[in-house]
Amino acid sequence: MLAYFEEAPTTTSSTLADTESVVAAAATLDNDLDCHDAFPTHAFEHFRRNGLLTAPLPIELGGANLCEASETAALRDVLYLVGRGSLVMGRLYEGHVNALALALRYGNAETRKQVSADAKAGHLFGVWNTEPAQGSLSMTRHGGALELAGSKCFASGAGHVTRPLVTARIDDGRRLMLIVPLEPGVRAETETWRAQGMRATATGTVDFSGLQLDVGAMVGEPDDYMRQPFFSCGAWRFLAVQCGGIAAVFEALRIHLVTTDRGGDPHQRARLGEAATRVETARLFVARAAEAAAAAEADPEAAIAYVNLARGAVERSGLDVIELAQRSVGLSGFLETHPLERRVRDLATYLRQPAPDHALASAAGYVLNEAGAFHALWQKL
Ligand SMILES: Cc1cc2nc3c(=O)[nH]c(=O)nc-3n(C[C@H](O)[C@H](O)[C@H](O)COP(=O)(O)OP(=O)(O)OC[C@H]3O[C@@H](n4cnc5c(N)ncnc54)[C@H](O)[C@@H]3O)c2cc1C
Repeated sequence: MLAYFEEAPTTTSSTLADTESVVAAAATLDNDLDCHDAFPTHAFEHFRRNGLLTAPLPIELGGANLCEASETAALRDVLYLVGRGSLVMGRLYEGHVNALALALRYGNAETRKQVSADAKAGHLFGVWNTEPAQGSLSMTRHGGALELAGSKCFASGAGHVTRPLVTARIDDGRRLMLIVPLEPGVRAETETWRAQGMRATATGTVDFSGLQLDVGAMVGEPDDYMRQPFFSCGAWRFLAVQCGGIAAVFEALRIHLVTTDRGGDPHQRARLGEAATRVETARLFVARAAEAAAAAEADPEAAIAYVNLARGAVERSGLDVIELAQRSVGLSGFLETHPLERRVRDLATYLRQPAPDHALASAAGYVLNEAGAFHALWQKL
């Protein structure tokens, strides 16, 4: 995979302003973004050449500071634009950003240096936390070496992500983060990823059993991965990607109504207006959730609750826009040749995120139990 990476990375300052065109160009480089057993290798090569793989790093390490709280709005826009261009690219890029954010937050100076060098060399990162019911990942320490046993499942970029950040159980049951150097194509099984959408994400199972690592692979302290408020608040990033996917479905609807000259019909107008409201609801919620996450230390419980509410709002908006678009376009929108078809499948699949009921119930619990007016609940954020 790295053989593609011939040009030196560019600086990111101008690149970020050009994200939209970078994403548009990248999305055309891989015609198989909707195929099983595919992966957008060329698109990520394009991302690397245009600085998007290093953009999450601090400026002093060669990046554009995208993981700093001060750059939250820039990261939100980048994630939105990538998601709008392709949810497959958005999911994978969000995993890359998340892994670097975790390594930068919890890693020591050596880890930070290593991940920076690896990102500059073109390695794609990801976060693999989800585990099969049996055979979850654990690690044993033997002096200066670590040995892994078990697997991760629903791991995006399996066989392509060469620097996954994984969580592994230690003797006392807590979980430690590790960055595992992998060669392309090894230990990955993606044959069972026959999903309705998000096909080219290579979301598979990776078996780490018997793999030996240096202790330098460890990132932070046990259970840092789940440390609050960052763990729950980090959901805002996938919401930004989903928001892009919702906008893409909406655009397919809007273009259809214009090109078929059906937009004048009052029923079509009403549905388009409702869909536009949902798109904007999601966008506003995500913007506020990103701000709340950036300021989370000022009021951690409030920030978590707000991001959890945003999760429900974005999911609802996405589901509504899908329904409105399918009803407005009709049967044509179910044909593989129609732009709506793949966008709907990708969005419907990517809207599935962990424990949505728990997120909403926990936010409701916060709202229920906090004293004071509802409008004042988020005032510190
Ligand atoms: C395209 C894609 C790529 C992914 N890539 C990665 C990746 O790279 N790394 C990674 O770690 N993960 C990845 N995942 C997995 C993701 O993080 C979640 O684990 C997964 O999306 C959860 O979806 P689910 O619907 O199975 O969630 P669930 O949490 O199982 O939710 C399903 C339903 O069950 C309910 N529910 C949840 N828990 C309970 C319970 N205890 N009792 C009763 N009901 C419950 C929920 O509220 C919901 O209604 C990916 C997912 C997708 C869609």
